[in-house]
Amino acid sequence: MKISIIGTGYVGLVTGTCFADTGINVTCVDINDDKIKKLKQGIIPIYEPGLDQMVLKNVEKERLHFTTSLKESLEHTEAIFIAVGTPPDEDGSADLSHVLEVARQIGRNMNHHLVIVTKSTVPIGTAQKVKAAVQDELQKRGVEIDFDVASNPEFLKEGNAVEDFLKPDRIVVGVESEKAEKIMSRLYKPFVLNGHPIIFMDVPSAEMTKYAANAMLATKISFMNDIANLCEIVGADVTNVRRGIGSDSRIGNKFIYAGAGYGGSCFPKDVKAIIKTAQLNNYNLRILEAVENVNDDQKKVIIRKIKEQFPEVKGLTFAMWGLSFKPQTDDMREAPSVVIANALIELGAKVKAYDPVAMEEAKHTLGDTIEYGKDQYDVLIDADALILITEWPEFRVPNYKVMDKLMNNKVVFDGRNIYDPEEMKEFGYKYYSIGRQVVKQ
Ligand code: NAD
Repeated sequence: MKISIIGTGYVGLVTGTCFADTGINVTCVDINDDKIKKLKQGIIPIYEPGLDQMVLKNVEKERLHFTTSLKESLEHTEAIFIAVGTPPDEDGSADLSHVLEVARQIGRNMNHHLVIVTKSTVPIGTAQKVKAAVQDELQKRGVEIDFDVASNPEFLKEGNAVEDFLKPDRIVVGVESEKAEKIMSRLYKPFVLNGHPIIFMDVPSAEMTKYAANAMLATKISFMNDIANLCEIVGADVTNVRRGIGSDSRIGNKFIYAGAGYGGSCFPKDVKAIIKTAQLNNYNLRILEAVENVNDDQKKVIIRKIKEQFPEVKGLTFAMWGLSFKPQTDDMREAPSVVIANALIELGAKVKAYDPVAMEEAKHTLGDTIEYGKDQYDVLIDADALILITEWPEFRVPNYKVMDKLMNNKVVFDGRNIYDPEEMKEFGYKYYSIGRQVVKQ
């Protein structure tokens, strides 16, 4: 069996590699020439645990190929997955220009039946737009070629993407024909041997499922951040509240950690896009509007705490541990670290940051507005405070003796609640966290 994946980013590369690992012949296509050149040389453009060995293995077995030519990839292909970006447009709706450009290219070049699958996160009705774009190109060519469209949203998490793809909780596929269902079943059979289902449904419901899933997860986070802010005011501890409610099986203990706000390439843009879809249909998703507002404010909570501690921020130096929007990824899209660093710089402070993998990526966003350290202790030299923003495992048990020697002040702002207030007290640190009381020196 042979398939093509268009767009070789976080989703496309993982999808293509995992399919290739089951014995399928996969061609990954990208318009980014540099990316394809690097992949051909065995250089993986993103940080994703386990992905590099898997790519190399499948390239060596000649099951995984890379090209910039969509046309070339179509030969003998049965299914083509569109996995290009759908960034937010100026008004918050998903920008479909990349998806529809790929659809038109498919129409211009296809010569046999294909299942055209949207894997990108796309608003309801996009598969129909893809269908129309392909049809239009076929008509221009004066040819009639049968094809199917399908929607197969992706639920992988960056940082655990390979594992998530190989062992998914479920696979959602929207189809319009038995033929498409059969091909998608064959493709995904190896991934559901663990008993988790492939859920077939109509195409609009599949498209909506992805947005509803991300919107629900974002809601849990913003809900908990809102509760955390109230905990601070009334003298409660949100980590105790989390344990108290998370043990209720109706609520569950995932995605209820208070912090410095959600970021990343998906939640912010998907929440915006579904709100926009609702507005276009004369409906207001009031809960999600609040989710977004709470999150925007939450990214600034650390700044509020910093101002509380230091009435004059100008001239101070802040060490920042972590830059990526979450651990185990180098993805900097919508990372709270950027909002915090920019705010500090605007206030006249200096920021010295360290991240185990995201510093190169961070330079594209923050450039030389901040300094980058060679390790987590290097950035503490003469720092007036430490801000923990991404909970990488190596930050969890800090060496207080080394910290004491390097820092000007014993002040820590913990944006992820990873430190124990008792321990901070024991070591003499003034400790600010989220949804808990300030620990005084
Ligand atoms: P990405 O930006 O990492 O990758 C997109 C790739 O598509 C880029 O390499 C780009 O060069 C390429 N591209 C753009 N136009 C192209 C064209 N015309 N032909 C060929 N290649 C083209 O994006 P991503 O994070 O992989 O996300 C892709 C889609 O999957 C988005 O819709 C996103 O919302 C969705 N998604 C992402 C995640 C995630 O964790 N990143 C998870 C689930 C779903």
